[in-house]
Amino acid sequence: MGDVRPSARSLDEALARVADGGRLVADECLAVARDANLLRLAAAADGVRRRMNPAQAVTYVVGRNVNYTNVCWVRCKFCAFYRVPGSDGGYVLPLEAILQKIEEMVDVGGTEVLLQGGLNPSLKIDWFEELFRAVKRGFADKTVTLHALSPAEAIYIARISRLTLPETLDRLRAAGLDSMPGGGAEILTDRVRREISPHKDTADEWIDCMRVAHGLGIRTTATMMYGSIDTWEDRVEHLMRIRDLQDETSGFTAFIPWSFQPDGTELGGSRASAVDYLRTVAV
Ligand code: SF4
Repeated sequence: MGDVRPSARSLDEALARVADGGRLVADECLAVARDANLLRLAAAADGVRRRMNPAQAVTYVVGRNVNYTNVCWVRCKFCAFYRVPGSDGGYVLPLEAILQKIEEMVDVGGTEVLLQGGLNPSLKIDWFEELFRAVKRGFADKTVTLHALSPAEAIYIARISRLTLPETLDRLRAAGLDSMPGGGAEILTDRVRREISPHKDTADEWIDCMRVAHGLGIRTTATMMYGSIDTWEDRVEHLMRIRDLQDETSGFTAFIPWSFQPDGTELGGSRASAVDYLRTVAV
């Protein structure tokens, strides 16, 4: 991607094209992300939103996050959640506790449970099949969407269960999996991943897992954790990879950027600013 700063005119042209429903190529996206005036960028983003949602309707889901285990061997440097296998503070929630949490969600009108946890070597596919079936059985007369297992978890469950990824996702879907969260994407460039999560799946593996899920009819979200060691070049590459797959499969239902929270992590550092957050959401 180019290092030369764009002229105000080329930024204006790029933003005007966005307003007309056009698309930005990576270099233009980078220029807009880095250099466009924030208020103009925000107005352009709002214009896209109004064009795509002329009714001005905003939708949301009432749900609950249930982290079924914090045991994880991967030791991502940006993570303050995990406990390595065998160490103090590691847990696996019993089935009854998970069902209880879902019941509390249903009682207040919630409809979606997001199940995510660490890569726990003791939890193979049968554990998840049993859990998903129990959830679907226990709430058969209610709407409970099982939004569960990020690509990192799905890939690991396949590996330790000695199954292919399509076999794994197919079995999980048969047990009750409705959709998958896009967690673990962090930044989809191997330069960043090698630095902040060297033992996790690669960018290609994350994309391939989503491609397999979409091919099986399992829709997913996509995320981006920004603000650690990433540059705007990394973020733009991430966005382009997500957009390319969306062009191919139309399987993403939402894109969720969230900022790195350094407290208690090996990586440390500072938080992304509010301005960075606004720019990122607008882009
Ligand atoms: S895989 Fe997930 S739970 Fe495990 S260390 Fe990385 S971010 Fe934390």
